[in-house]
Amino acid sequence: MVIIMLGAPATGKGTVAEVLSQNLNIPSISSGDIFRKNMSEGTEFGKKIKEYMDKGELVPDDLVLEMITSRLNEDDVKNGVILDGFPRTLPQAKALDEMLAKENKKIDMVVNLETPRDELLERTINRRNCSNKNCNSIYNLVLHPPKVEGICDKCGSPLYQRDDAKPEVAKNRLEVYDRETAPLVQYYEKTGVLYTTVLSQRANRMKDEVSKDVLEKLKNN
Ligand code: ADP
Ligand code: ZN
Repeated sequence: MVIIMLGAPATGKGTVAEVLSQNLNIPSISSGDIFRKNMSEGTEFGKKIKEYMDKGELVPDDLVLEMITSRLNEDDVKNGVILDGFPRTLPQAKALDEMLAKENKKIDMVVNLETPRDELLERTINRRNCSNKNCNSIYNLVLHPPKVEGICDKCGSPLYQRDDAKPEVAKNRLEVYDRETAPLVQYYEKTGVLYTTVLSQRANRMKDEVSKDVLEKLKNN
C-alpha cells in the first residue's frame, strides 16, 4: 500500500501520517525528518541541503530523489509506505510514478489536507518538535501541548522550535507550497486517487476524525 500525504506546511500531515502508520502497520517516511537528521549529523548530504532548508526553500529535485530512492529501497517499506513531504514538485511526482511502475506498484491514495491559511500560520508558530531524532514527535502549544512543558511525552527529551517555524520563514514556505506543490493536487486528481479533506481546529475537525475518514475510505476502495 502506498499513501501520499499532501497539504501545505503545518496542515498536520505528519500527525495524521503517524495515526495511519500505526493503524495500517506500515512505516511513515518524512522527507523533512530525513533531511533534518542529515543536517544535525553533519553528513555531506546534510551540508548540501542546509542553505535551502534554512530559507524554507525546496531542496533541488535531484538531491531529494537521490535520498528518497535509497530510502524506498530499504526492506521495511516492502509492504507499504506512507509518504509525508514527498513528492513536493511535479518532477518528483513523475519520478515516483516511474519508480512505482517498475515494481508494479501503484498509489492507493493521496490524502490532501486543507486548512485555512490564517490557522496554518498560527499553527506553525506554536509548533514544537522533539529533539530526539529517533522520536520526532510533534506538539502544538495550543492544540496538542505536552503534559510537561518543554518535554516530550513519549521519550522525555527536550522540545524545541524549528528554525523554519519562525514567522518570515513560515510565510515563505507557504508561498513555495502554492507555487511548487499545490499543482500536484490537479496532477493526482486526474489519477482518481485523490482524497481531499479539511483538517481545521476552527471547523472542529482534527486528526482523529480525519484519520478515521481516511481509513474508512481506504477500506471501501
Ligand atoms: P513541513 O511539512 O512543515 O513543510 P517538512 O519537514 O516536510 O516541513 O520539510 C521541511 C523542509 O525540508 C522544507 O521546507 C524543504 O526545504 C525540505 N523538503 C522536505 N521535503 C522536500 C521535498 N520533497 N522536496 C524538496 N524539499 C523538501
Ligand atoms: Zn520524543
